[in-house]
Amino acid sequence: MIFDYPESQQERVHEPAGYVSYKSFRPWLRDEFTFRCVYCLQRESWGQVTGEFELDHFEPQSLAPLRSLDYLNLVYACRRCNSVKLDQQVADPLTLLSSDAVAILPDGVLVGHRTESKRLISQLDLNSPKL
Ligand SMILES: [Zn+2]
Repeated sequence: MIFDYPESQQERVHEPAGYVSYKSFRPWLRDEFTFRCVYCLQRESWGQVTGEFELDHFEPQSLAPLRSLDYLNLVYACRRCNSVKLDQQVADPLTLLSSDAVAILPDGVLVGHRTESKRLISQLDLNSPKL
């Protein structure tokens, strides 16, 4: 197995608040998501660190401006996944990208077991050859 998604739904361990810029949450989110993209699991250390990882507003700022400083609305994502997601509303990766919902074939191809997981894999093009 090259890599694997968490066995069950990922639970948040931090809940900082009080920042006036969402970018201030970066250290918390790096730790929360163990330096990995929540969508494709690319590790920060495997790519170029500077500028490669972004703070994604799970519920897009354009649709939920009042959640722009809500820590629970932020996820850590690589630039590729964040740029593919853009302002799409996608299903919660913490629920749908777990090993009971997604299988990873030996060649790295993701297979969703649930309709929502299949849709999320498609929306984010997680089977892109670039990944
Ligand atoms: Zn990614």
